[in-house]
Amino acid sequence: MQLPNLVNTFGHAMFEKYGCKVHKLTINAQFTCPNRDGSKGIGGCTFCNNESFNPNAIQTPSIADQLENGRTVVRKRTGARKYIAYFQAYTNTYAHVAILEKMYNQVLKERDVIGLSIGTRPDCVPDATLELLAKYKEQGHEVCLELGLQTASDETLDTVNRGHTFSEYEDAVHRAQNLGLDICTHLIIGLPGEKPEDSLKTLKKVVDLGTNGLKLHPLHIVRNTKLAKEWEAGNYIPLKFTEYTNIASEIIRHTPGDVVFHRITGTAQMEVLLAPEWCNKKWMVLNDIAANLHQFGAQGSAIGKPFKSNKVYT
Ligand code: SF4
Repeated sequence: MQLPNLVNTFGHAMFEKYGCKVHKLTINAQFTCPNRDGSKGIGGCTFCNNESFNPNAIQTPSIADQLENGRTVVRKRTGARKYIAYFQAYTNTYAHVAILEKMYNQVLKERDVIGLSIGTRPDCVPDATLELLAKYKEQGHEVCLELGLQTASDETLDTVNRGHTFSEYEDAVHRAQNLGLDICTHLIIGLPGEKPEDSLKTLKKVVDLGTNGLKLHPLHIVRNTKLAKEWEAGNYIPLKFTEYTNIASEIIRHTPGDVVFHRITGTAQMEVLLAPEWCNKKWMVLNDIAANLHQFGAQGSAIGKPFKSNKVYT
């Protein structure tokens, strides 16, 4: 019941390609976000408190130090000797391309860093930035554009104050694909007002557009966010454990086998996490998804079928 036998995981895909373990090293390059500074919106997404991404990175201002610290931890934990620099916090293309180039060059000059994963918003990837990333790919680096979409529903995007629509994601995907870039799309399960079937509708749209990878995580409530206030007022109820694992499993079953899952759950640091409490138990979530896939079908086995609830929700 090993997860890589049931899901096309990022770790497995990298091992197949490079013949060794490749791990992402998270970097906070201290960008901001156009949905926070007023150029797209103010206040950010209702669920966003960037301190929940990686507090350790936030306390480590130097990118070189972050790489070294991450390398030490990851090498000890996983044995990986090759790394991808993952620019994660905020919007990692939100600067002039010359500034981005200097920053990306800095990490790519490290001998064991084989590529870049750039987390950003779909409305923040001008052609010049995509061309820079394409240049790195042509040079032989591993390059992935990680687009935070979260949902294909414009109504939900508006509800959570994303400040962009699905059409901006479509546009970004087309322009990135024209330059040969790989795309990983981030999706959130359990957004306000969304049913399990809505997650499958989103999945179909992003798969039809040709996303190469997916990242899934449950909507979690962290301190100092608008969502936290909604939760405290009883206006938002987070998913239960089995609801999440069942929806995530169904998404995986409805996804073609060549799409790589970079992540199938996610959490926040305990200091800022308010709910759901279970999402901090990563291995419990992964084991339940593996058990679900083992029992009801692996990645790709339910393509074309309707959403099926294999668990009794309590
Ligand atoms: S786009 Fe990302 S960084 Fe910006 S407010 Fe939303 S979740 Fe936070």
